[in-house]
Amino acid sequence: MTFDVTSHPEPTTEARRQQILADPGFGTNFTDHTAVIDWTQGAGWHGARVEPYGPITLDPAAAVLHYAQEIFEGMKAYRHANGGVHTFRPRENARRMNRSARRMAMPQLDEELFVQSLEALVGIDADWVPSGEGEALYLRPFMFSTEAFLGVRPAREFTYRVIASPAGNYFGGELKPVRIWVTRDFTRAAPGGTGDAKTGGNYAASLAAQAQATEKGCDQVLFLDPLHDNAIEELGGMNVFLVTADGRLITPELTGTILEGITRDSVIQLARDRGLQVEERRVTLDEWDRGVQDGTVTEVFACGTAAVITPIGELLDGDRTIASTGTGEVTQSIRAELLGIQTGTVADRHGWMHRL
Ligand code: PMP
Repeated sequence: MTFDVTSHPEPTTEARRQQILADPGFGTNFTDHTAVIDWTQGAGWHGARVEPYGPITLDPAAAVLHYAQEIFEGMKAYRHANGGVHTFRPRENARRMNRSARRMAMPQLDEELFVQSLEALVGIDADWVPSGEGEALYLRPFMFSTEAFLGVRPAREFTYRVIASPAGNYFGGELKPVRIWVTRDFTRAAPGGTGDAKTGGNYAASLAAQAQATEKGCDQVLFLDPLHDNAIEELGGMNVFLVTADGRLITPELTGTILEGITRDSVIQLARDRGLQVEERRVTLDEWDRGVQDGTVTEVFACGTAAVITPIGELLDGDRTIASTGTGEVTQSIRAELLGIQTGTVADRHGWMHRL
């Protein structure tokens, strides 16, 4: 499928773009274009195009506005020293989007077409990829139901889009441990639910907990699984790893209630490459707390596309600070290696980078 391209009639001025790139922030500024593909039952995917970025016209009865049939992905494109723009494991995002689509009764998008849509958008908006340290162009592919129908059944019309946003360092400047709020009031997912789908509703359901976290001076929420001794699940937008004094990494196993992070998978690979043992299993909040207290757990970090790898410092559970670790060596070293691969300064031995 080829993408018809309509250039923006009034693109952002060079001066304004430079101003945005000088301090990109996160998720507030968008490039001049968007890639679009439509899907209709019977006809399948059609109308692939790149068009000017702008508001969407949607019927007020569009299914997405009522029943939230929506999924999305998140990834980054990095400017390498040779000037080329590379993205990280895009086929993994394509596969995850298709898994989300299956769960949400939405159509499958061919992996190749997914990658082509990124190429088409970044091709025209390449000047928007920042080149500063820790900076990248955040790519947001998403799909939603557009059919105007209030009956509750899978919609028959969908749109897939990609938008792009220059991104700076997610938690700001230097690598400082984040503070996490343990929510006891809310859970994120249950067996058979949508926890492993990247669907908007999961994030909507996490916001009340996130608001509490912010009120308590915390950066993110840790969700637990009260059905299994308060096993740790994940943060609102990141997976979690514990590092032990004897050099093991422990991370919650994929049971269907947490998102299968691509950073998580990459960290597991890089750790195993170093000969570190990785345990994917149930790990409780008690084990974390006790481990930090008796010195068997030496580091804890969170990982995801936005913040890459971030050390977790304090964990606030009610009025109690239950675990506190600093920025450890394993965290720093795996982070440096992963960032190096992504930004092109460390050899890409697993073939993870894809030139757009
Ligand atoms: N968990 C959740 C709930 C997320 O939203 C994300 C971000 N996509 C992650 C984990 C990390 O996934 P990834 O490493 O693919 O960004």
